[in-house]
Order: sequence, then C-alpha cells, then structure tokens
Amino acid sequence: MADINKIQDALGDIAVGKILYDEPMSRYASLLVGGKADALVFIVNEDQLIQIVRRLKEKKIDFLPVGNMTNIIVRDGGYHGVILLMKGLNGVSYLCTPERQHYISAQAGAALASVLSRALAEELTGMEFCAGIPGSIGGAVRMNAGAYGREIKDVVEIVFLLDVDGKKKALRREEISFSYRKAGLPPEAIILSARFRLEKGQAQQIKKRTSEIIQWRHEKHPLEYPNAGSVFKNIPGQTVGELIEELGMKGVSCGDAQVSLKHANFIVNRGKAKASDVLELIALIQSKAKQEKGVILEPEVVIIGED
Ligand SMILES: Cc1cc2nc3c(=O)[nH]c(=O)nc-3n(C[C@H](O)[C@H](O)[C@H](O)COP(=O)(O)OP(=O)(O)OC[C@H]3O[C@@H](n4cnc5c(N)ncnc54)[C@H](O)[C@@H]3O)c2cc1C
Repeated sequence: MADINKIQDALGDIAVGKILYDEPMSRYASLLVGGKADALVFIVNEDQLIQIVRRLKEKKIDFLPVGNMTNIIVRDGGYHGVILLMKGLNGVSYLCTPERQHYISAQAGAALASVLSRALAEELTGMEFCAGIPGSIGGAVRMNAGAYGREIKDVVEIVFLLDVDGKKKALRREEISFSYRKAGLPPEAIILSARFRLEKGQAQQIKKRTSEIIQWRHEKHPLEYPNAGSVFKNIPGQTVGELIEELGMKGVSCGDAQVSLKHANFIVNRGKAKASDVLELIALIQSKAKQEKGVILEPEVVIIGED
C-alpha cells in the first residue's frame, strides 16, 4: 500500500523524468478500463529505471512494469504503487556474427511490431507468428506470448533483466522455465531487453506470411472494439471461444463490457465499460463453465489493483 505523498517523498530528490500522479490506467490499457495508479513513471532509460526501482525498494513501495497494457486489467479501485511504463525504452538493433548467426536485440518497451519490421528489413524469419500481437517485448517475454503453435521461448536467446536485488542479469533461454503464457522469472524481475535468434529468409515470403496472419486476425478478432486479446487460457479438447458459445454467452453484457459476437474468448468495451463490468463478465463465464461443463477457466489477462 502506498500513497502519493509517500511516493513524492521517495522520488523527490532523484531524476525521475516524467511522472503523473493519480493517473487513470484506462488511458493506457487496450481495453480502455482501469482505475488510477498512485503514480505512473515514463521510463526512458535503464539508469533512470535502476535508480527509481532502488529507491522504491528501499521505501517499500510497490511497483509494476508494464508495456503496452494489452493484457492487463487494473481494478477500478486503482493500483496503490508506481506503474513503470516501459514504452520509452524502445531501441531495436541487428547483429550478424562472423559465423553468420543473426540476432535482433530489442529493449523491453519496443513494440513487437517494430521488431518484426526490423526483421523484415534484414530479411530474417522466425518471428512472423507475433504479427498482430499488440504487445511490447517485455510483455511478450513475461507472458511467453504465442500464436500459430509458436511462442516467444522458441526464438528468444537471452533475456536481460533487473533482478530482485536491483542488479542487471542475463539469463539464457535454457535458464528460464517457460510455460504456457508464462516465463518463470521472479515476480519482481524487470525485463530490460531480449535478444532473438532468427534465420535468414526471403523478404517476400516473410511479408506474405505476416500479412496473411494480420488479415486472419482482422477476420477473426473483434479489432473494431477495445479489447485485451484472449481473456482465458486455452483448454484441452476445444477452443475456449467454442465453449463460451456453447454456454450461450456470446453477446452477453455487463454494463458496456460484452462477450464479443465475433470471437467469444474476447471481451470488448462497447463504450463506457468499467473494469468491474469486465471482471463481472469474467466471473459469470467462469461460474457457468464450471457449473455446466465442469471446466475451470483461468484468465490469461493479468488482473491487478484494488476493488
Ligand atoms: C487484439 C489482441 C490480440 C492479442 N493476441 C495475442 C496472441 O495471439 N498471443 C498472445 O500470447 N497474446 C496476445 N495478446 C495479448 C498481449 O498482446 C500479449 O500478452 C503481449 O505480449 C502483452 O504485452 P504488453 O506489452 O501489452 O504487456 P502488458 O499488458 O503491459 O503486461 C502484461 C504482463 O507483463 C508484465 N510486463 C510487461 N512489461 C514487463 C517488463 N519489462 N518486465 C517484466 N514484466 C513486464 C506486466 O507486469 C504484466 O504482468 C493479444 C492482445 C490483443 C489486444
């Protein structure tokens, strides 16, 4: 639990950069819902981040790094602590070793889309499965983002992070136990950057695959409304979307939050939904799935903050 005065005292004498207090997270989250964070800091370089994190730890103030907020819901009561918005840490670079191994390195706040553009510019293949995933590198590594049978763990080589002791550390892929939508990293670790190993390919094929995937997403996903991607994790045997349809919940609403008519594993914001509307809908789906099908649905979206 933190309050604004405590955060101001803690950060007052260091070079914090841009900071907003009592800032609505609905302005940043892709679902356009969410309560206020006590403070939101715009991270633009690693030194600034390290200084801030060190101070917040000393003062026992909670903090959480976020990227594009495409997979996160902040409850309406808000987040009591400091949200570290990593988007400004967005460098992307390319390296080809003398052995002709090809790597793209990207800072945590870089959008997956900009990494894909760079890969295409260098004619590198391997990350096309990420096309259309609107997250950042930090969020994608933390969530082990995936699609079309591939996941971030299949392409990441090294993850650079700020560990719980506030020190920088590099972990090779084999040292991280990745699982479905999860990287086995300490909860407090902050991903600084990651290096991906890709293969030389042909620009035309890379482009073709990428646009096929993006087109498929436009056809299948309700991108015309604010959303946070798939709400629930996959289950064995059938897709969650099919299960929710079978429960008769397609189109069901709580306030302005609605189970998408286009894809039932998406909840969309049809205007003025609150986080509580979305969470009520999630709970309703979970309880019906359990009662009627004996299936436990686990949210894929990360839910934080106070009721
Ligand atoms: C239209 C749409 C389609 C989507 N399709 C897919 C899909 O096909 N596959 C898929 O896997 N996901 C999908 N998603 C979900 C989401 O885009 C991914 O999970 C993405 O990787 C999240 O990145 P982010 O930057 O938005 O993370 P955020 O939502 O900002 O954060 C997600 C989690 O990562 C943590 N985090 C973020 N940055 C860091 C960091 N630097 N260090 C440590 N922790 C960090 C946050 O604390 C939080 O726990 C989709 C979302 C939308 C809206």
